[in-house]
Amino acid sequence: RHHEFWPNRIPKSLVLPKTTLYDNLLVSARRYPDKTAILYYGNAITYQQFLTQVDALAGYLQNRLGVSKGDRVVLYMQNSPQFMIAFYAILRANAIVVPLNPMNVTEELRFYMEDCDSKVAVVGQELYERIAPLIGTTPLQNVIVAAYSEYLPSDVEYPLTPDITSAAVRIDNPSVTAWKTALSENMQPDELEVESDDLASLPYTSGTTGKPKGCMHTHATMQATLVGAVVWNTLTPNAVCLSVLPLFHVTGMQHSMNAPIFSGSTMVLMTRWNREIAADLIQRYGCTHWTNISTMLVDFLSNPRISDYDISSLKAIGGGGAPLPEAVGQKLFDMTGVRYAEGYGLSETISQTHTNPGDRPKMQCLGIPHFDVDARIIDPETLRELGPNEEGEIIVNGPQVFKGYWQRPEETEKSFIELDGKRFFRTGDIGRYDEEGYFFMVDRVKRMINASGFKVWPTEVESILYKHPAVQQACVIGVPDEKRGETVKAYVILNEKDRGKVTEQEIIDWSKEQMAAYKYPRIVQFVESLPVSGSGKILWRLLQEQEMASLKK
Ligand code: AMP
Repeated sequence: RHHEFWPNRIPKSLVLPKTTLYDNLLVSARRYPDKTAILYYGNAITYQQFLTQVDALAGYLQNRLGVSKGDRVVLYMQNSPQFMIAFYAILRANAIVVPLNPMNVTEELRFYMEDCDSKVAVVGQELYERIAPLIGTTPLQNVIVAAYSEYLPSDVEYPLTPDITSAAVRIDNPSVTAWKTALSENMQPDELEVESDDLASLPYTSGTTGKPKGCMHTHATMQATLVGAVVWNTLTPNAVCLSVLPLFHVTGMQHSMNAPIFSGSTMVLMTRWNREIAADLIQRYGCTHWTNISTMLVDFLSNPRISDYDISSLKAIGGGGAPLPEAVGQKLFDMTGVRYAEGYGLSETISQTHTNPGDRPKMQCLGIPHFDVDARIIDPETLRELGPNEEGEIIVNGPQVFKGYWQRPEETEKSFIELDGKRFFRTGDIGRYDEEGYFFMVDRVKRMINASGFKVWPTEVESILYKHPAVQQACVIGVPDEKRGETVKAYVILNEKDRGKVTEQEIIDWSKEQMAAYKYPRIVQFVESLPVSGSGKILWRLLQEQEMASLKK
């Protein structure tokens, strides 16, 4: 509709395969059986080996753990070959992958287990302790535990931090199976029963109610962004992708795993970000494609030893999830000659709905609407459609838009509107588009903090803060942060009897224990009152504005 600009070499519309994600892997393994699919700190796993292990794990999930069509299986581990194998095995077992952030702590996990009613989880070894208390006390019944060291070469050349080299520990619990044992049974899965419109994944996102919600994605919605990424980024079988974004989150999941598997490319996989190792891997394996996030790129480019490495193989660098500062994009271009292709999307759209064309990107810009995406701007109050350069809420219709929130029909209904006979998803982001159809982000309607791409939902943090016995009232806002883009600040009113007894630092330390590391308030300020509306609601936006004004001074 609004596309005045569209790259010449790219078709405007895509015919998407009506197949499942497992078929993508199957095709790549048949085409390139001996080609390296995953390179894990020097250890190569071919496409055939990848497929064989996926099938064996799927067979175990079905035959030993009773996983069947439509079951939700939690995947709670860091980036590793096992993450990728388990992801495809869950799909091969006709089940739905529920990827969880490895930073989640036990109480957060309890919510997810209950919400998605997951009976089985595949878990990284170092995270097992956090999930163990939930076996039998939530729907969770069986856990498969994987040690990353099993996929590392015996002589890893890198100092891996955190240490992921430790051998598998023996866990004496009949509900728990070691990864190796599960695979060694070599069971074959039953027929693939799922089809393109069946659910494939349930990535969680939070929201205004403070409770995370699972976004229902089918194989079809996922194929839309991953095939779109393959075409847009010219991801050929010769491509070598540096896969370092967290795979549990939609951008990493689609760009660093599912798209390269579709195209039969090689993935150079990292468990954790480390700029030195990243530069070494790019040089050593000639990485051509790298999807990342601005904080990673800033760190990478500010390495004083970066010029010691040959990173000239890089051809396509881009990312999304958070804005890229203009100066960083410029530095990248000066050093590599590659223009950063920023993109935009949400968990609800399983990664991008907008991307900058690599050959004509704009800075600090979300890009143009992707294949078959109809994106518009509306006034969030009147819902009237707006024109070029008018600011309003971004709404999207396209093949990647999710089917709704898991078991939350009311919230699903609220997040869609009808326009011109089509159903549009309301993103909660405030933006505008220019005359050429490039979109820009201006603000957010929704109450969300974007800390290096990790989304923090203030209501969720507040609901945890209220559990502290000394906290009478709390209001959480985002404040600008040089490193994380935004960071979390909490205003707290203490109970009268606790004033002078509890310190701000104590609240911070306590919060650290209660929630994932990216969420807890880095700054706590005690106040005696908070601004409230006539109806008694805390005026968080006012606090946010006051904070911004005081920072500008
Ligand atoms: P998530 O569901 O975690 O992927 O978060 C989606 C949100 O990330 C969007 O609603 C935006 O607020 C934010 N976001 C995504 N891409 C960008 C971008 N390129 N620039 C600024 N914010 C972004």
